[in-house]
Amino acid sequence: MQTDTLIIGGGLSGLALADHLAGAGAEFLLVEAQDRLGGRILTRAVGDGRFDLGPAWFWPGQPRMAALARRFNIAVFDQYSSGDLMYQDQTGAVQRGRGYASMQGSYRLAGGMGSIIDALSGGLDHHRIVTNASVEKVAHAQGGITAHVQHKGTAVTVQARRVVLAIPPRVAAETVTFEPALAPAQLQSLWNVPTWMAGQAKILAVYDTPHWRNAGLSGDAMSRRGPMVEIHDASPMAGGPYALFGFIGVPADARTLHADKILQVARDQLVALFGPEMANPRDLILQDWATVPEIARAADRRPAGHHPAYGLPASIRALADRGIHFASTESAPVFGGFLEGALEAAEYMAAILSGANVTSVRAR
Ligand SMILES: Cc1cc2nc3c(=O)[nH]c(=O)nc-3n(C[C@H](O)[C@H](O)[C@H](O)COP(=O)(O)OP(=O)(O)OC[C@H]3O[C@@H](n4cnc5c(N)ncnc54)[C@H](O)[C@@H]3O)c2cc1C
Repeated sequence: MQTDTLIIGGGLSGLALADHLAGAGAEFLLVEAQDRLGGRILTRAVGDGRFDLGPAWFWPGQPRMAALARRFNIAVFDQYSSGDLMYQDQTGAVQRGRGYASMQGSYRLAGGMGSIIDALSGGLDHHRIVTNASVEKVAHAQGGITAHVQHKGTAVTVQARRVVLAIPPRVAAETVTFEPALAPAQLQSLWNVPTWMAGQAKILAVYDTPHWRNAGLSGDAMSRRGPMVEIHDASPMAGGPYALFGFIGVPADARTLHADKILQVARDQLVALFGPEMANPRDLILQDWATVPEIARAADRRPAGHHPAYGLPASIRALADRGIHFASTESAPVFGGFLEGALEAAEYMAAILSGANVTSVRAR
């Protein structure tokens, strides 16, 4: 196979870059290791509702997400936050009305974040997108790039003038071989970049009736007992089924060993916080991102305590001279980590590939 720009990774940044290149009439091929597009964006249908198991929000001051929603006519709505909050202390005791609605003012998308993946990928020539295709090696020589790809168990090579790794830098460091090899310091720099939220897990509890809303509760809860430590309403923009989701506070290693037990205790926790009607969710889903090797590596199992300063170090940006570029959200200097950062990274990369000098903008 042959192309001009090979995009590795079909998450938001890879797809947004493909969209830019398609708009400019440029030739590209996008390869995605998993059997679906979206990466950390994962929206699951339950009945007539679509529920986010990855990112759910964007925020005021994030213009690219707002513009994309407008472009594709995807309705934006406010995170539900009417009513009292709940608080659970370490002993399990519950208090009503204590705390603050930490996600009040956040925006959600009708149909979930998967709507932007569907819209972006739906607008691209599907011959240029290959799923189940994992890049294992990127060889660089005078004439360009040769990528070695495993596609459904078959080894395939792709020749390209240049390659964009729209995958988390740490995933690149651990799973892609470069030839000639990257300098040890470059490899270490890539590996040092934590993948935002990769070690997190969410539980989604879906109900036909929004019992918490009916009781005057917002669905927001903070818990010092767990297993869910922060809970929010995750219902669709209108109609049901309705849902709550919670971030799990149990460390990744323990989660993997005790997934069934965690779901059982989470159900009990929902009853303790929101009432006995919560005992029988229509669906109870655990999405553990730490178990997805294309996104989370062993070092990501210990979540970053704070939001890291993102943007690629200069030694990595220098690889552009070899036709090797990086463009996941972690490479975005302003909104790195967020969905907005994935769009920022794609926008800068499209400008770089078109020959614009944006090096100073990308400097950390
Ligand atoms: C639980 C959770 C909640 C979050 N909440 C929010 C939120 O509310 N708001 C927000 O702004 N952000 C949030 N984020 C962060 C947000 O999801 C990311 O910023 C964004 O999705 C990153 O997109 P990306 O395309 O850069 O990377 P990814 O989505 O990680 O995409 C990378 C893609 O590359 C593929 N890949 C990896 N290796 C290879 C290979 N060798 N060959 C081919 N393909 C490969 C992967 O399978 C993946 O599809 C959250 C993340 C998580 C996990």
